[in-house]
Amino acid sequence: MTVIDTAPAGVPTTTTTPEPHPLEDARTQLREAVSLLGYDEGMFDMLANPRREVTVSIPLRRDSGAVELLVGHRVQHNFSRGPAKGGLRYSPDVTLDEVRALAMWMTWKCALLDVPYGGAKGGVRIDPRLHSRGELERVTRRYTSEISPLIGPERDIPAPDIGTDDDTMAWMMDTYSVQKGHTVLGVTTGKPISLGGSLGRASATSRGVVHVALAALAHRGLAPSRTTAAVQGFGKVGRGAARFLAEAGVRVIAVSDQYGAVAAPQGLDLAALEAHVDASGSVVGFGGADRIGADELLEADVDLLVPAAVEGVLTAANAPRVRARVIVEGANGPTTPEADAVFAANDQLVVPDILANAGGVIVSYFEWVQANQAYWWSEDEVEARLAQRMTDAWERVRDHAAATGRPLRTAATTLAVERVAQAHLQRGLYP
Ligand code: NAD
Repeated sequence: MTVIDTAPAGVPTTTTTPEPHPLEDARTQLREAVSLLGYDEGMFDMLANPRREVTVSIPLRRDSGAVELLVGHRVQHNFSRGPAKGGLRYSPDVTLDEVRALAMWMTWKCALLDVPYGGAKGGVRIDPRLHSRGELERVTRRYTSEISPLIGPERDIPAPDIGTDDDTMAWMMDTYSVQKGHTVLGVTTGKPISLGGSLGRASATSRGVVHVALAALAHRGLAPSRTTAAVQGFGKVGRGAARFLAEAGVRVIAVSDQYGAVAAPQGLDLAALEAHVDASGSVVGFGGADRIGADELLEADVDLLVPAAVEGVLTAANAPRVRARVIVEGANGPTTPEADAVFAANDQLVVPDILANAGGVIVSYFEWVQANQAYWWSEDEVEARLAQRMTDAWERVRDHAAATGRPLRTAATTLAVERVAQAHLQRGLYP
């Protein structure tokens, strides 16, 4: 992971979107699905609330010797279909409600893709760019130690998300293993290859985004070679998505990160842009493109928009100005229900997060299977299985949407919620 020590000089971090409310958005989506499926209020309550959650204090000794107290969360939304599974986010904006929403979306994602897990998510309120690797390692180890009674290959399996990476997963795995007295590779996924990581995991979310993006473009009669795209976020998901879209022939004309956005109408030279980001820490200042506003990126005159940064960026306020015909959610929760209504009215196709960015959890599942069997697959095998699962899920959701006349998100959420509700009903209540 590239660690950005400070914001590039003179580049303010701009947020022009309204305050996101991901838990409200997630519950609105669930409410609609529960009502369409005919379940009662008891089922809504069961699915709207996490099964278990913990908030922990994380004392950090800084390199200077000073001690700071950080706060972290782990939310396990559901385990009806198997152990909980979900990423760990390091961000100064993390809130418990955000982690609850992200955990709920993980439950739907795993159910939709038929991965045998429930949903979970973790978060630590920290800006990783302002900390050394040593400090991040100490935070990770202390956080892992605090939540270790709740996690494990059969309980809850963390993975990387915003601000965390394969090193974070290695430190978590090591801390957990030291406590157990033996190496437990299956406790995290997204680990380095040398420590039981899976080939193809690092690129899996981006590849999955592009598999469904190409399928959605074809569904709308758009050939990649005649298609333009804008990508919001240039991290683990956005960067790979931009690269794989370009490899498929799509002209990627605008990208952004938290510092700003750049555009080149003739298409960005992504190899040169990636080299610039590796050297400087931001897309801003890239010589081969013009600086544009963060809002301009979302409203750019492109065929395909891939929000791959944070929640709540497509809202009632800006949705009427979004021109992309197809929106593929690399990020979790980028579109509010109000924006969804605008896109539906304007016949813009939104491929929802629980489908579009599921490539990561699919290959995390493959990694867990390989770690538990201590038998490793080739990269080709991983990628072929990933492509097959993404394509199958896209077709299932597309066909369900067509059969019911509902948007893709409603189709995906109802398919997923029904699977979880059925598992819950079949297990019954204890006692
Ligand atoms: P990351 O930390 O690697 O990258 C995040 C990127 O978003 C960075 O480029 C950052 O500068 C940018 N960003 C942050 N705020 C922004 C803003 N307001 N406007 C524009 N850019 C902004 O994180 P990631 O792993 O790429 O995750 C991105 C999204 O994808 C998140 O919603 C995450 O939950 C979701 N996701 C990630 C994975 C995965 O495997 N990493 C899997 C599924 C979903």
